[in-house]
This record gives sequence, structure tokens and C-alpha cells, in this order.
Amino acid sequence: MKVLKFGGTSVGSAERMKALLKLIVNDDPKIVVLSAMSGTTNSLVEIASLLRQKKQSEATAAIKNLEEKYANVAAELYAKPEYAKEASGLLRANFDLLRSFSAERFSVKEERVILSQGELMSTMLQNLYLKEQGVQSVLLPALSFMRKDLHDEPDMYFIREMLKRELAQHSDCKLFITQGYVCRSFAGEVDNLKRGGSDYSASIIGAAIGAEEVQIWTDIDGFHNNDPRVVKKTHSISHLSFDEASELAYFGAKILHPACVAPVQEAKIPLWIKNTMEPTAFGTLISAETESGDIKAVAAKDNITAVKIKSGRMLLAYGFIRQIFEVFEDYKTPIDMITTSEVAVSLTIDDTSNLDKIVDKLKRFGAVEVDSGMTIICVVGNKISESNGVAARIFSALANIPIRMISFGGSRYNVSLLVDSAYKKPAMEALNEKLF
Ligand code: ASP
Ligand code: MG
Repeated sequence: MKVLKFGGTSVGSAERMKALLKLIVNDDPKIVVLSAMSGTTNSLVEIASLLRQKKQSEATAAIKNLEEKYANVAAELYAKPEYAKEASGLLRANFDLLRSFSAERFSVKEERVILSQGELMSTMLQNLYLKEQGVQSVLLPALSFMRKDLHDEPDMYFIREMLKRELAQHSDCKLFITQGYVCRSFAGEVDNLKRGGSDYSASIIGAAIGAEEVQIWTDIDGFHNNDPRVVKKTHSISHLSFDEASELAYFGAKILHPACVAPVQEAKIPLWIKNTMEPTAFGTLISAETESGDIKAVAAKDNITAVKIKSGRMLLAYGFIRQIFEVFEDYKTPIDMITTSEVAVSLTIDDTSNLDKIVDKLKRFGAVEVDSGMTIICVVGNKISESNGVAARIFSALANIPIRMISFGGSRYNVSLLVDSAYKKPAMEALNEKLF
């Protein structure tokens, strides 16, 4: 069995939903994981935020807007009136639910129910379209098998058992459609796998059923060796190892949700990135193997803030870094890069929602400096921090770029550099020219 995931643009219009049939209707048994139609989750986030701000009438207007969009999609998608009618009846239920939430009594619980509607609607529409076209398929409700445990991690035992049961009930069926992103919390309430989480759903499902492979269908032909939005002349990378792919997914161009690599890596299941617009292109194959050779790709992450703590107390002290990290931990702020000297620590964060409070607390330890508007540029490849000459090649390419931090040797697959965002483009162009 294969698992195929299609993102928001792949189901983004009636036309795209129709076109999907060519990719999913064949003899291979498969589970198809769908995102919400593009733009929907953003609209749902907006609706929830209006309700939270007690702006009931604005929320109602936003719901109406979204409802019209779906009415148009349904009108275009189905040829037979009875299917169009069934779709509008089902959509009606989703929108009545959205309208039922009161700004007066609004909590995260309601918000999560709202956020789950996008995937529930896209899968319903797609599955009904398959039925109209005479294709046998089963809609598997993700809410009946996808669950998180006490630590907010996928409850693999539960997922495996529930999926086994669900699939066994339809042993004659080859095509299953299910929702990405939505899941239940440990307590059984509607929850989600965070923005962009449909990739993660596909990879969890793949690992749970021991799939032959997992395919992530998106609108680019795989990972590129550099960011095509920043530099000209990039090419797609045909093979990546799981480790290289996780580094790139975190830094890269939102091609793959970073959490998505771990489940398939552990289960040793190949992960493909494929392009819906160009289905015959090879894409990127992510597996335990990699091509030999060193540097594979350059990627960048913007909106990074660097924090430096300088203190004489750090000299020959132990426990100093732990105390600093604890401040970030208290404010649930992940740290990305870190570099140290004998008397100072520099680190980077991208979530600055608690930065002021963090800086206040850090002042207890020494002088604090904050630089915002920074970019992490990361060079990814196979064992690059152990290959002779790689550092020399990177730094000679960047001869004219001021570098604020360097992280080398943290993993064998990544060298990260922090630069002011103003130098991002020239840095990436220079690396593109000198490394590939
Ligand atoms: N629909 C969700 C989002 O927009 C999940 C996904 O598309 O992966 O974040
Ligand atoms: Mg995505």
C-alpha cells in the first residue's frame, strides 16, 4: 500500500480536484491524504481570531465569504444534480457548525473544531467526486484513528491498531481518502498537527501501516539545491538521505513539514516529493541512501533574532549555559543556532513573542545584545562537516559577506551561518556559484 499526500494547491479548485483523478485512480492500493483547499485554513484561522476578539458579525461575514467560495467549487465540480445537491447538503452542515460558535463563549476547544473544517470539506468533496465518476473509494475519518499522546506526540500504537481495523472493514477497496492535519488530542478532543501538518499525517500513516512508500505531492519538482525564489539557476535534487532532508525541511522553502521525516526514517520507508503540475518529473527521493559527494543544497530561514549574553561569570563556570537555556525554556521558545566563546554565548530564535521578558531575565547573567532581521543560511550535504575543503569552499564563496555566527560540526549534514538579512541574496548567489 502507498500513501499519497496532496497539498492545498493540488485540491485548490474544482479543476484541480478533477485533475487529481489521473494521479490517484490506478491499480495501486493507496491511502490519499488531503490538505484543505488552499487559503481555507488561513480563512478559518481568521474566523477563529475574530470570534476570540468578540467580533461576531465580522466572523459571520467571513464565514459567508468562505461558504460562497465552496458553493462555487461544488457547482463547478459535479456534473450530476444529485451529487451537487448532496455536496451542498454536506457543506451546509460544516458551515452551520461554523456559524454556531458564539464569540461570548470561545475557547481553544472551539478554535480547533473550526480549524479542522478545511480538511473535512476537501476530503468530502473529493470523495464525492470520485463516487460521481464511478470510482470506488472509502472516506477514512482521520478523527477515528489519528491521535496524540500525553506528550503531544502521535500515539503510534493507537494509530496502527485503529487503521488496521478501519482498513480491514474495507478489504475489497483499493482507494482510501483521509484528512491530513486533523487529529484528536490525548483527551479525545478535536485537535491538529499544527500548520502544514498534513505532510506529517501522511508520514505517520505510512509508518503505521508499513507503507511501501509515502509520496508528498506539491507544486514544485522536489527539493532544489538553492531557493528558486532568491537565486536564478537552481535544479531539483534527485536523492537525499533522511538526515539531509530533515535539515533542509527545517530551513528550506516550506516544501516539506520538518516533522514529517522522522516517522518514515524510523520505519525505513522511502519518501518522495512529487510535482502535481509535472507528474512525470522524477522529483526527490528521500531514503536511507544518498548520493556520494558532498554539498547538496543551500537553504535559508528569515526573521531570525540573535541574542548574545556576555558575562565574566561564564569563565570556567559550569551550569551557566543551562541557566540561560532555562530562561528560553520557561517561555517555550525554541533555540535554533548556538555558538559560544569563553565569556559569551550567542544564540538564535525565530519566535520573538516573549523576547522582552526573556531579555529581562537574561540581564541577571550579563550584558545582553539583540540583533533582529537576521537570516540563517544553511549548507546541507552528506558528511560535509567531515569532508576536506568544504569549509574553505564555503568561506571563500562568502569572502565579501559579514558573518555574525557560524555553526559547524553540530551535525554531519549541516553548516549554518547567520547573516544580516540584507546579505541573504548576495550570500546565496555566491554560494550557488561557487559550490555547485
Ligand atoms: N491545512 C493545514 C494548513 O494549511 C495543513 C496543511 O495544509 O498541511 O496548515
Ligand atoms: Mg504544506
